[in-house]
Amino acid sequence: MICDRRGKHYLGVAPHGRRQCYRSYTCYTRHRYGRSTCPADRLPADQLEHAVMQALLATYEQTDLLEHAITTARSQAAHLREQHQGELAAIRGEIGKAGRWVCRSTRRPGGSG
Ligand SMILES: [Zn+2]
Repeated sequence: MICDRRGKHYLGVAPHGRRQCYRSYTCYTRHRYGRSTCPADRLPADQLEHAVMQALLATYEQTDLLEHAITTARSQAAHLREQHQGELAAIRGEIGKAGRWVCRSTRRPGGSG
């Protein structure tokens, strides 16, 4: 999670009080340099983590979205495969030319090799 004010990541912090530990997420800038440097609120960890889990569940329940992502990924992979096969063929061609040149240059006039 990134702070929209400073662009820094949020950190999980858990200061220990006398009786309990209060977990929260805080902007790195605010945590490192003080409240005056970034006005972003500290976010209670339990509520934030619950909200994130709910958002993930809601996303994963959209199976059409996942199917679309899988179809897109397969299409991109097929395109890359074709591209790489073309590059491989070109490289093999270059290797073949270089091999023939080495054979020619190592032959001695009148020799057998
Ligand atoms: Zn911040």
